[in-house]
Amino acid sequence: MRLILLGPPGCGKGTQSQRLTEKYEIPQLSTGDMLRAAVKAETPIGLKARDIMARGELVPDDVVVAIVADRIEQPDARNGFILDGFPRTVPQAEALARMLADKGLRLDAAIELKVDEGILHERIAKRVAEMKARGETIRADDNPEALEKRVHAYRLQTAPLVSYYSKHKLLRSTDGMASIEEVSAAIDRILGNAGKGAQRKAARKPARRPKARKSAMAARTAAKPRKAAKPRKAGRKRASKPVPKAAGRRTAARRRGARKIRAKRVNKAGRRG
Ligand code: ADP
Repeated sequence: MRLILLGPPGCGKGTQSQRLTEKYEIPQLSTGDMLRAAVKAETPIGLKARDIMARGELVPDDVVVAIVADRIEQPDARNGFILDGFPRTVPQAEALARMLADKGLRLDAAIELKVDEGILHERIAKRVAEMKARGETIRADDNPEALEKRVHAYRLQTAPLVSYYSKHKLLRSTDGMASIEEVSAAIDRILGNAGKGAQRKAARKPARRPKARKSAMAARTAAKPRKAAKPRKAGRKRASKPVPKAAGRRTAARRRGARKIRAKRVNKAGRRG
């Protein structure tokens, strides 16, 4: 199962991805988490991304694409993954499509969590309060100004992916305003249907192929012999019909007689002329 979760910051992608990870036993690949880890470890990528992220802007496509390309090569991602926060731009989606095509893999669905923008600030404020209560470090971009920029970046750069995946017949949308359990149930239904759809397709495919080959063959044999049917049938009949010996001899004798008569006539005519 290879999934993408799409939606603005605070729509619940992280929460749903974690749930899906447990259910399908495939890793959640969150570019936000990977970048935050890089920032914390002060790797070259982290140093490059730190200020961009704190402002609520998007890290350059090539940086994120390289991270994801590396990550999906890991053994734990072999059986599938949930991409959370990637792709975030159309060029990223195109890069992902190329990566998967190179490996002969395909996406199962891009699930969009639809939410009213008005609720995002509330949700982020709630997340900040919960993190504070747990004594965790607050994200550098979980403040009103950065959030405004993140939502703006979503609208401008990420929302076009909704029509991108719709065109590629991979988009499944659900109401992200519902409770966590309800959203989970809706995703399960989507994936259940996607799974059933895939199963139906798989079941149809092998049945179809031989049928198609058969009917193509039938069409060829039906088309050809129709013209050739009579002579072939007649020829075969003659060949297989045992010729009575006596009748055969008689026919040969008749032919010899007829030849002699013709020769005599020709000689006569020659002498006359
Ligand atoms: P959220 O979805 O809550 O905004 P994320 O944890 O997914 O947060 O991402 C946090 C930040 O990391 C983004 O605002 C952006 O700066 C950076 N980032 C994450 N994923 C990408 C990506 N695919 N492309 C560019 N930047 C990204």
